[in-house]
Amino acid sequence: MARLELDSVTKRFGEGDGSVLAVDDVNVDIADGEFLVLVGPSGCGKSTTLRMVAGLESITDGEIRLDDQRINDQAPAERDIAMVFQSYALYPHMTVRENMRFGLEESTDLPADERNARVEETAGMLDITELLDRKPGALSGGQRQRVALGRAIVREPKAFLMDEPLSNLDAKLRSQMRTELQQLQEDLDTTTVYVTHDQTEAMTMGDRIAILDAGELQQVATPLEAYHRPANRFVGSFIGEPSMNFVDCGVDDGALLGEFEVPVDGPDESRIGLTADDEDDRQLETVEFRYPLGADVRDAVAGSAEAALGIRPEDVLIEPVTADDESDAAAAGASPLGDAAADHVFGGIVTVVEPMGDENVVHVTLDDGPELVATVNGLRRIDSGTRVRVGLPADAIHVFDGDTGEAVH
Ligand code: ATP
Repeated sequence: MARLELDSVTKRFGEGDGSVLAVDDVNVDIADGEFLVLVGPSGCGKSTTLRMVAGLESITDGEIRLDDQRINDQAPAERDIAMVFQSYALYPHMTVRENMRFGLEESTDLPADERNARVEETAGMLDITELLDRKPGALSGGQRQRVALGRAIVREPKAFLMDEPLSNLDAKLRSQMRTELQQLQEDLDTTTVYVTHDQTEAMTMGDRIAILDAGELQQVATPLEAYHRPANRFVGSFIGEPSMNFVDCGVDDGALLGEFEVPVDGPDESRIGLTADDEDDRQLETVEFRYPLGADVRDAVAGSAEAALGIRPEDVLIEPVTADDESDAAAAGASPLGDAAADHVFGGIVTVVEPMGDENVVHVTLDDGPELVATVNGLRRIDSGTRVRVGLPADAIHVFDGDTGEAVH
């Protein structure tokens, strides 16, 4: 059993005015055998957190426990934790076999034949048996990463810590190794903390993901929970590609109400392709975007003066407007906007279409001001300049408090 707990863990580099609060009161409880991905933008404190767990960095405040035992003051070698680095950190003058055995010699007093057996077994598991007598210089990046993993696995530690282990590999190999690593972790059932800045890696690999921003933990959840129920605006925008749309609004009489400056002659076809300077020359008017809220959301935002509406690109429904299509009957029919109530359907124009193969990323500007990104099936042909109706169904929207950014719905 290896449960890993971070209890109010804090790291401050330096003292006084110039000090950096790199990790701020982080609490996370990682279950035995769990694969936890620590994810966040560059500089958010991921590596520092991992290094504190490994014992490579001192802890300013808080406690780290492995199997209920405080490990704050234990040296790295005493912790029974193995770390895998982005840079592989292999010894160039040693063969693969020696590199793998080295970790074992440092941390255990196993008899030599047992050590050799473990190295062979691990090499078999990672499919690197033929490489055992080569030196790291004669290996590809992917092979080196396997050896680095092997060196950690062979020790049979209580926990693995991995710091962006795949980021030096090309995209194809990375995605292959992602699957392999996941499988391996499942087979070994060893508690793992995996650091990455790549939200795709986090979404696809972790049992749970812990999202950090500016040293503060934003949410710890399964990938699907974080995607469908982001705790705050940061998580909503960080998880998911293309990113969630946000519309900043005030709260007004049971509705979200945003004000936008748009060209007097409207966001029509003639606006597409205009340069920023041309845009500057256009006369602007203020328009209102009004999104009526259901009773439950209304109550939730009652205390907020400002709120942001959030909606994922795949939930933004769009349908080209055709000549005989302006009637209400069409809006209520079996169209892709069927899920959106009439007062959640807005007029707009497609400004840019990015074909991605399986899907098209469609940028639309609503007549009421907001600019949104929608994703539609790649087989659906939509051109820029197309007038569309845009549905924002009530059951797909997220509402975030304007001040705190916390999800209120
Ligand atoms: P990246 O993805 O870029 O590696 P990260 O999320 O791992 O970023 P950390 O390396 O943990 O971030 O750094 C967190 C913060 O602490 C950053 O502001 C960084 O500049 C600062 N920091 C890290 N190490 C030190 C140090 N030794 N001395 C001072 N500040 C440091």
